[in-house]
Amino acid sequence: MTASQNTPKTMLDLIGDTPIIKLKRASEETGCTILGKAEFLNPGQSVKDRAALGIIRDAEKRGALKPGGVIVEGTAGNTGIGLTIVGAALGYKTKIVIPRTQSEEKKIALRLHGAELIEVDAVPYANPNNYVHYSRRLAEELAQSEPNGAVWANQFDNVANRDFHAQTTGPEIWEQTGGKVDGFTCAVGTGGTLAGVSMALKDRNKNVRTVASDPGGSKIFSLIKYGKDETEGGSITEGIGQGRITANLEDAPIDDAYRIDDSDMLNVLFNLVTEEGLCLGGSSGINICGAIKLAKELGPGHTVATILCDYGHRYASKLYNPAFLQEKGLPTPGWLR
Ligand code: PMP
Repeated sequence: MTASQNTPKTMLDLIGDTPIIKLKRASEETGCTILGKAEFLNPGQSVKDRAALGIIRDAEKRGALKPGGVIVEGTAGNTGIGLTIVGAALGYKTKIVIPRTQSEEKKIALRLHGAELIEVDAVPYANPNNYVHYSRRLAEELAQSEPNGAVWANQFDNVANRDFHAQTTGPEIWEQTGGKVDGFTCAVGTGGTLAGVSMALKDRNKNVRTVASDPGGSKIFSLIKYGKDETEGGSITEGIGQGRITANLEDAPIDDAYRIDDSDMLNVLFNLVTEEGLCLGGSSGINICGAIKLAKELGPGHTVATILCDYGHRYASKLYNPAFLQEKGLPTPGWLR
């Protein structure tokens, strides 16, 4: 590509093609090269801009989304931010259903970008009032009442999500490592990132080891590792953890799963702040812990890639709030007090 072809033409061209960076401490600790894909550099500041763009482009192609239509989604926040910015750039309105428990920072970002927010109680998926079901019903109603119709993004079970990662994130990691990647791991929210990247990497080399890194309170670890519908513990992370095999995870080539503790996740995050100049969100911490575990399993000299999903600023009131951490009995570094 020439320099002029590479120049972004619109905001949408800023999505994807993120840099990949070497994580110093994690690499030194394992004798491996541990790489993090800097997804916080997307315009909506998270990995979920990719799912948003993939889902919207697919809905347009299928004719489901008409000019001036409404996009409806249930989201922990980041997908909502992605859908809202992509929607604004392409002339769509967005209505976002979010559990009340999600961080204020994400809700503020959604409002600033022009989303209409509907906050609902955080109840399990089996409850018909769960945010996912609520958003599906709202989309069905709006499809009838809105002059230009409405679509439900359905990030969990719409495979346009993982397809976009298989077409972009995975091939980018392959190119950026010159094909020298031995393992990949990340946490699961919808499973779109893990499934899509794993599909792309295994297509190119079936020996790349792919692993789900799962926080407490999620069932992905036991579902993948033991085929059992079980969980234990909990986590203060947001946007990750899942109670079922979503359509995005169905038949995905995942070799193994790890359970990662919040205290390990926080130690990794706090070291990144003081030693590497990176302030990242909880899922990035879970992912790096998983990458360290995978690197130790593979042995020195290997290369493991993971995802740096979003900035820590989105969780200033939680992960980086001493009062919140102390109340939960979690490690609080001196510099934060
Ligand atoms: N990290 C963060 C911060 C997220 O918001 C999400 C998605 N909700 C994920 C990770 C998980 O990504 P995916 O949905 O592709 O599994």
